[in-house]
Amino acid sequence: MEIFDMREFDGHELVVFGHDAPSGLRAIIAVHSSVLGPAAGGCRMWPYATTAAAVADVLRLSRGMSYKNALAGLPFGGGKAVIIGDSRKAKTPELLEAFGRLVDSLDGRYITAEDVGTTLADMASVARATRYVAGLGAAPGAAGGDPGPKTALGVYLGIRAAVRFRLGRADLSGVTVAVQGVGGVGYHLCGLLAAEGARLCVADVRPAAVQRVCEEFQARAVSVDEVLALEADVLAPCALGAVLNAHSIPRLRARIVAGAANNQLAQGQDGTALRSAGILYAPDYVINAGGIISVAREYQGGATEAQVIADIQGIPLRLTEIFERAQRENRTTNAIADQMARERLAGQPHKLMA
Ligand code: NAD
Repeated sequence: MEIFDMREFDGHELVVFGHDAPSGLRAIIAVHSSVLGPAAGGCRMWPYATTAAAVADVLRLSRGMSYKNALAGLPFGGGKAVIIGDSRKAKTPELLEAFGRLVDSLDGRYITAEDVGTTLADMASVARATRYVAGLGAAPGAAGGDPGPKTALGVYLGIRAAVRFRLGRADLSGVTVAVQGVGGVGYHLCGLLAAEGARLCVADVRPAAVQRVCEEFQARAVSVDEVLALEADVLAPCALGAVLNAHSIPRLRARIVAGAANNQLAQGQDGTALRSAGILYAPDYVINAGGIISVAREYQGGATEAQVIADIQGIPLRLTEIFERAQRENRTTNAIADQMARERLAGQPHKLMA
């Protein structure tokens, strides 16, 4: 595998492969950039079909964390970890502790937290082997804990900003939002949207997750096939990446795409296709930064939950700045966000609004 030549490699500082025979751990940690501080990003557990697929994913996610942390104004670089395996079958405390030892061996260059396939409880296992971990339980009123609800808050505020910009509406009452994936983030997002009177259409591959949201928030269930092409004001992808691609974009009927999933665009040029179709795209790593803001505050110590929420209020301001600049310069929102992130990484701090 020609890792250095992969398109996703993109100047990574460090890629570490870890194996622990007794627990069966096979993990990869990628540090894209530590220019702004130690690399922070979650640990994904996923049954990748090949090692090459795992490498490509960890590199893409790690670079995304560099950009996300830079634009959120955090003093952290970008990194990510993947554990290769099915989280429902292969995850054990021993495996998570072995992962913690791998994290610890990097001496703080990488700080981990939960992501798809790992949980708050899993991070407690990881923490038995390293102090370079966040996303642990937090005392009431203190910063930290499960980042999912904080990510959902940022996405909700981002959807409001996008609706205001694109539809000229001051609130979400009667606005239709199609939510793809109602797991840790999607569930909480639905709660916030429903509380403001949004009409919800939801899809998930787990019927029980759909049923819960339908019962609690009067959402309408739709199939996983139809959710992307629904006639809705907003499409909120909150499942997995690459859902915006050459196949799906021509089918979209929403006027705004704004959701939590990482790496929603299969390729950069898909942002151009969205723009050509008149769809406003909220760049994923800008709108979904609420969780890492919480994780970062928790890791730094001493912050309150109120401070985390105040930081998350910066997300809609940054998005509005990106929307306005994209309109002014006739460019895509993702190109503008990437440029702002690269400027900050290159030591030309973009003047952040919050
Ligand atoms: P999760 O695993 O709890 O939820 C994802 C949900 O999507 C699950 O319910 C799953 O069944 C569903 N799903 C999977 N494939 C699907 C499909 N094809 N169609 C419909 N539903 C499908 O994960 P999460 O923590 O809620 O994160 C959701 C997304 O947001 C991920 O892409 C994640 O990387 C991203 N994200 C999460 C956070 C966070 O704080 N948890 C932060 C930033 C970004």
